[in-house]
Amino acid sequence: MKAFLHPVVFIGAGPGAADLITVRGARRLGEADVVLFDALTDPALRALAPRARWVDVGKRGFCDSTGQTRINALLVKFASEGLRVARLKGGDPSVFGRLEEELQALTEAGLSAEVVPGVTAAIASAAALQRPLTRRGTGRSVSLTTAMTRSGNLQAGRSADTEVFYMAGRQLAALSRRLLDAGWAADTPVAVVSRAGWPDQLTSDHRVATLAEASVLHAGRPAVVTVGVGAGALPRAAPRDPTADAAAPCELESRNH
Ligand code: SAH
Repeated sequence: MKAFLHPVVFIGAGPGAADLITVRGARRLGEADVVLFDALTDPALRALAPRARWVDVGKRGFCDSTGQTRINALLVKFASEGLRVARLKGGDPSVFGRLEEELQALTEAGLSAEVVPGVTAAIASAAALQRPLTRRGTGRSVSLTTAMTRSGNLQAGRSADTEVFYMAGRQLAALSRRLLDAGWAADTPVAVVSRAGWPDQLTSDHRVATLAEASVLHAGRPAVVTVGVGAGALPRAAPRDPTADAAAPCELESRNH
C-alpha cells in the first residue's frame, strides 16, 4: 500500500517503551519528514525516523509550554509545505489527546489525515497489574475519565463497573473524597499505576477511602487510577497439592468458559 496517502498521520505511540507502538505506527513514523511529538513519548522512538525533523510540542501537566493553537498551526504549516507530517501522541490519539482540535484545524485548512491507534494508558495499566478491566459477570463496563475539568476542578462519578481516571495523580486525596461522595464504598479496591509500560512502572493497591496514601509513591509520574471491579486482584491460586491427580484435558478447557 502506498505510504502517506494523507499529508498528516496521527500515531499513537503507546504508553511508554518504544516497542509498544504498533507495527503500522512504526512504519508511518519511518516515512515522515517531520515528527511533532509529545513530552511523554519515548526518545528511543527517534531511531524509527532518524532522518526526520523532530519537533517537541509537549505539554507537561499544568504548565502548558506549547499552546494547542501553536500545535494546530504547525501541523497545517508543515503539511501545506508538502512535507509528510507525523503527529506522535502518547498512548492513543483518541483518548484525552485533543485529537478533535487538531483534526478540526486540518479540516479547516482542507487537509486530510490518517489516525493510527495506540495502546492507551488504561490498557497498559491493566497489563501491568495483570488485572483485566472487564470481568465476566461482574465487570461489564469500563469508563475512561479525566478527573480534571477545564476549570481545574476535580470531578469523579460512578458510571461503570470499572472506572479508570487519567490526570488525577496530583489530586488523589480529592479524588478519594469525590469517589466517596459519588457513592463508591470506602473499601472499594483502587489500583494506581504510574509510568505503565515503562521499565520503571510502579503499581500500588489501595481502597477508595485510603487512596491519598498513594500520592508519595507516584509523585511526579504520569499515573492512572483504576477503581472498582477491574482494580480487584485475581484470587490467588491455592497451593499446589503434589499428590493430586493431573486435571483431565476436558476439565482444563471447561475452566475457560
Ligand atoms: N493519550 C494518552 C493520554 C494522554 S492524557 C493515552 O491514551 O494514554 C495524559 C495522562 O495519561 C496522564 O496524566 C496520565 O494520567 C495518563 N498516562 C499517560 N501515560 C501513562 C503511563 N505510561 N502510565 C500511567 N498513566 C499514563
